[in-house]
Amino acid sequence: MPAPTVERLSVELIPAFKDNYIYLLREPGSNSVGIVDAGDSTPALAELARQELSLTHIFNTHHHPDHVGGNAALKAQYPDAVLIGPKSETARIPGMDMMVAEGDEVAFGSLSFRVIEVPGHTRGHIAFWTEAGSAVFSGDTLFAMGCGRMFEGTADQMWKSLGRLKSLPSVTRVYCGHEYTQTNARFALTVDPHNPALIERAAEVDRLRAAELPTIPSNIGIENATNPFLRADEPAVAEAVGLAGADPVQVFAEIRLRKDNF
Ligand SMILES: [Zn+2]
Repeated sequence: MPAPTVERLSVELIPAFKDNYIYLLREPGSNSVGIVDAGDSTPALAELARQELSLTHIFNTHHHPDHVGGNAALKAQYPDAVLIGPKSETARIPGMDMMVAEGDEVAFGSLSFRVIEVPGHTRGHIAFWTEAGSAVFSGDTLFAMGCGRMFEGTADQMWKSLGRLKSLPSVTRVYCGHEYTQTNARFALTVDPHNPALIERAAEVDRLRAAELPTIPSNIGIENATNPFLRADEPAVAEAVGLAGADPVQVFAEIRLRKDNF
């Protein structure tokens, strides 16, 4: 077995709205072409046309309009594209062809995406992970140095969901739903101020944003080292928020609350 290499899955960023990312996926050598979380069809259709690609897969991580709003127009242009999304949000995502749940596999050329259920931001939120392609599409659950707001779930649920992503191979590239990284870094420094990896990364993110460059993808190894929401079980983080020795869920809830008010 050859070692997994990132070349097996090409991922291009398509900025949308103010700070969303839509992702264009291709497996070099196959005709599979995917779009992840097309909140707005216009930039996605323009990019597909520009590259003369025919869309085969539309992936949705959760039901929010800024992630699914472009589905209908994409389907209208590419009727054979399979629209894939969380089974438990079937009533809230019109027109799905393939409703998926925990452990399901979605074939994409010779690659396969495994569905990981990550409730918290929405009740039915899912992530798509390809081990051979070394990437996870985490929607609004895991952000670079942050996590999504808990609109429909509890701290306990979100901590467990993040734990699922945290345990993926460290080289796994993380593609999240928004370019929130710079604000997330500023907040992270308030709850994990002495973390050298975080300090260094925050400076790197400032450099990238000053040059108007994206900070995505991150990877799981970087997130485990710098994301305070994945580090609620670190004694230094618990202590920094005044909860030394507390249960990680309690620490996580406190960090999330502080971020909501940041
Ligand atoms: Zn959302």
